[in-house]
Amino acid sequence: MTIFPNSACTRCGCVCDDLTLHVRDNRIQRVENACVLAEGWFLQQNSRPHPAALIADQPVPLEEAIQKASELLSHSRSPLIYGLGRSTTEGQRLAIRLAEQLGAIVDTAATLEQAQTLMALQQVGESTCSLGEVRNRADLVIYWGTNPVKTHPRHLERYGNPTEKRRTVVVVDCKETETTALADRFLPIKSDQDWEMLWKLRMRLASPDSPELEPAWEALVTQMKSAKFGVIFFGNGITKAKTDHRTVEALLQLVTDLNAHTRFYARRMRGVGNVAGADSVLTWTTGYPLALNMQRGYPRYNPVEYSASELLAKKQVDLCLMMGSETTADFPQSALATLREIPVITLDVPEAVTDFVPAVRFTTATYGIHRPGTAYRMDEVPIPLRTILETDYPSDAEVLQKLLEASKK
Ligand code: SF4
Repeated sequence: MTIFPNSACTRCGCVCDDLTLHVRDNRIQRVENACVLAEGWFLQQNSRPHPAALIADQPVPLEEAIQKASELLSHSRSPLIYGLGRSTTEGQRLAIRLAEQLGAIVDTAATLEQAQTLMALQQVGESTCSLGEVRNRADLVIYWGTNPVKTHPRHLERYGNPTEKRRTVVVVDCKETETTALADRFLPIKSDQDWEMLWKLRMRLASPDSPELEPAWEALVTQMKSAKFGVIFFGNGITKAKTDHRTVEALLQLVTDLNAHTRFYARRMRGVGNVAGADSVLTWTTGYPLALNMQRGYPRYNPVEYSASELLAKKQVDLCLMMGSETTADFPQSALATLREIPVITLDVPEAVTDFVPAVRFTTATYGIHRPGTAYRMDEVPIPLRTILETDYPSDAEVLQKLLEASKK
């Protein structure tokens, strides 16, 4: 039995790096410190459900699939490269190089939930801290519009931990959830009233003459001002609100206002895997975090016009190179219909299942299981990943490198 202590899990944006894996005969036998999501995910890595390359669902040698994919790419007039959340920094950099070479549009999985947040923080900035600081210093943790017990099962244990006496956990949400049951206090809010409430809180902070709030919210204002270190983790309830980026802006501005009284921070609850890495790599290479058009040889940014789901829904792309299909289930039906019509080349982890048949499917190694690399945690802290199991699957960086070379010829 080989034991891998301090291993990282990329199943969700927490990227917990304190798991211990027990491996025998190239199979994961046991996982310590794993949550319910992670345990199933790690044990799934023992199977090899697909060959490395498929053309129209038929197994082919890898080189033949590379040849077919590069032909499709070279015939495309308006290709889209989408996803990137299941890749590491290395794969993401190569995806951007391929987009430059092809003159493609690039969009990431963040487009579905985080585009509003990225637009908001470009407008008003954000006060950030690392999760390590939250764990060691926070005495007030607020979860707003998010249910981490379900989506990020170890988040509360690692960064909220209501059993610690020095820390108070408050949940603001439109309904009771698994997280509200564990919190010290639950403040219900009507669906789509977040923007109004955030502005009322800002007004109460700015002026004692502003209209008084209900007692529970007044208590929250007092608690936020008197906290030594407070943080708001926000999720879908805010980022999918009708007033979308205005609501996120109001939350970020509330946190900025609070810094006149104490230390306060805002952090996004990020989704699967390395979406935070995709934002970071795109930003440091092109200046923008998502929704880029490289057709003119330089990046043009427009999170509405160049959003993958919009482009697909309006049939404005004629090919999609998809690096990780796990978020396509959240696409509107019109976008999914286009994915069934145009050639799609997927680079997917072994367990991925799509409800369209890719023209070419590459099954690639899973980072942190089969390959080393770097993934970004939801607080943008890079976490090193290691190799746990041997595989003959190529990495997505290896496939992209071959596509880059084949597309040049
Ligand atoms: S909380 Fe997320 S990163 Fe941590 S063990 Fe569970 S699935 Fe993995």
